[in-house]
Amino acid sequence: MRAAVMEALNQPLVVRDMPDPTLAPDGVVLRVEANGICRTDWHLWTGDWTWIGIQLPMPHVLGHEFCGVVEEVGPQVTRWKKGDRVIVPFSQAGCGSVCEFCQSGHFNVCDGQLVPGVAYWGGFGRRVAVPHADVNLVGLPDSVGFVDAASMGCRFMTSFHGIADQARVEAGEWVAVHGCGGVGLAAVHIATALGANVIAVDVADDKLAFAKELGAVATVNAAKEAAPGAIAELTRGGAHVSIDALGIAQTCVSSVLSLRKRGRHLQIGLTSSAEQGMIPLPIDVIVLKELQIIGSLGMPAPRFGAMLRMVERGKLTPGKLVHRKIPLEDAGTVLASMGGYGTVGVTVIEKY
Ligand SMILES: [Zn+2]
Ligand SMILES: [Zn+2]
Repeated sequence: MRAAVMEALNQPLVVRDMPDPTLAPDGVVLRVEANGICRTDWHLWTGDWTWIGIQLPMPHVLGHEFCGVVEEVGPQVTRWKKGDRVIVPFSQAGCGSVCEFCQSGHFNVCDGQLVPGVAYWGGFGRRVAVPHADVNLVGLPDSVGFVDAASMGCRFMTSFHGIADQARVEAGEWVAVHGCGGVGLAAVHIATALGANVIAVDVADDKLAFAKELGAVATVNAAKEAAPGAIAELTRGGAHVSIDALGIAQTCVSSVLSLRKRGRHLQIGLTSSAEQGMIPLPIDVIVLKELQIIGSLGMPAPRFGAMLRMVERGKLTPGKLVHRKIPLEDAGTVLASMGGYGTVGVTVIEKY
């Protein structure tokens, strides 16, 4: 199969032939039709996440935001057949559905969690073998195209689960979104669709302009003014829900300080090597205002039904977030450019 291969950290990806993946008895082999390029790929490519124990064996094929068509089906698979169009959520059950979290439908926090493009070769290659296919795949409605679907398995579903299931955003609430990368823009779009008033926060005016197109009712440029004060003024007291969609100390603390009393802080972005998972928080403010701190990771596959119903009827349009469609050859250049936070919206590989 053709793949954009990572041969060493921080080195340009090399497009070349790689061995096809092997079919597992309970898995499928997919022909990948589209794959989104994510900041997570950049973290993996730079070796930024070695502190959380991720050290990829080389050569490696990245990519955890893909969709495609089932080509081969293992003998134990009951739900899928050759030719089915599917999305592959990145937060996958690896235990075979026997851990207590999978048993209760929370596949996204499985004790044996698998992430494609990390635990096994992913969507920067033309073929991917997905294990435990009965629980780890989601059917893609015919009306949803592959490019639109590519990012749904990561940033879009992560925002949906965080906003709808974890923070439980309600119509009419003020929602502040700190950081307008892929996950933040998805959060703006989804919270708006659920009836919230969304304020987008970033340091780049082009990202804020895009957030407005996606439904933000107000924007704050955090390079020009302090976000918590600006949000307190816009909302007369602070946001009901505030989201750190980036995972650096500044956006996380700023998000907590943007809340009104009894507000909920939603943490979606994981931290980088600078924070290594530790960010000091204003604990007294959290007590005095009765704030809640909520984490969110990916989305369990069974929740896709709710999100896809909104996509099918046009209430959510994940394709709007896609700013660039590229051939496999350009994947390495886009990945390398993410160090400067210069990319706007989502870039999708659509030609293999
Ligand atoms: Zn991703
Ligand atoms: Zn499990």
